[in-house]
Amino acid sequence: MWGAIVGDFVGSIYEHANLKGHTLPLIGPTSHYTDDTVLTVATAQALLKDQNFIEAYQDWGHRYRNCGFSSNFENWLSMDGLYECQSPGNGAAMRVAPIGWLCNSEGEVKTMANRSAEPTHHHPDAIRAAQAAALAIFYARQGMPREMIRERLSKQFRYNLNEDLDRLHREYEFTSVAKWSVPHAIQIALDSRSFSDCMRLGLYIGGDTDTICAIAGSIAEVLYPNQIPAELKSHARHYIEKWAPEMIPVISKFELRKPILINTN
Ligand SMILES: [Mg+2]
Repeated sequence: MWGAIVGDFVGSIYEHANLKGHTLPLIGPTSHYTDDTVLTVATAQALLKDQNFIEAYQDWGHRYRNCGFSSNFENWLSMDGLYECQSPGNGAAMRVAPIGWLCNSEGEVKTMANRSAEPTHHHPDAIRAAQAAALAIFYARQGMPREMIRERLSKQFRYNLNEDLDRLHREYEFTSVAKWSVPHAIQIALDSRSFSDCMRLGLYIGGDTDTICAIAGSIAEVLYPNQIPAELKSHARHYIEKWAPEMIPVISKFELRKPILINTN
């Protein structure tokens, strides 16, 4: 899950900066975690403790009220989870990485991704995006060649995973709608040549950069095992140790529990 966390840090300073490019610094003094990290940790906790997703998202959501939640999520938090939230946004996909890691079959990945999405994103596009992001991790864990991952996800979810990234660089604008952002995040992971290159592609296309880089980073972490650059990971770890130390035991427990990768691409 460090791939998702580091991606969130990388994208955090560009989300509303209206700045795109392939040579932007991946990390800076103001890089920070946002809701993507907080709720990914919450998903990990739910799986590790066999806890209800609603409880986990309420628990972590209330602890980090200022980390950049959407207004829909804010409403859901304020109403203790009783608000029926049908958001089509990418918020369910951004927190799903631990499911791709810890579930043991394609069916289980889809069921759990659905279950984790439903409390706050009860919309078919948001649920499908969460399933697609989690499946990308699951497939990559199995050592599935990335072109096969691309083909399977394209067919299953009717996503275009062969977009022209130069066109996106020129034309793509901020959106947090799942069907207009999650496919691009999956594509840049599959198109990339290294973890850093994946992050650079995320900043190149722009948009909802923290979430795009978090989702792409969570997949790239599997495609390039143990290749998250040390300076990126240590910035994220030190920042979390200082400002959100209670996340560390959950992350550490998850890292110990996650399966060893079978193969690499
Ligand atoms: Mg965010």
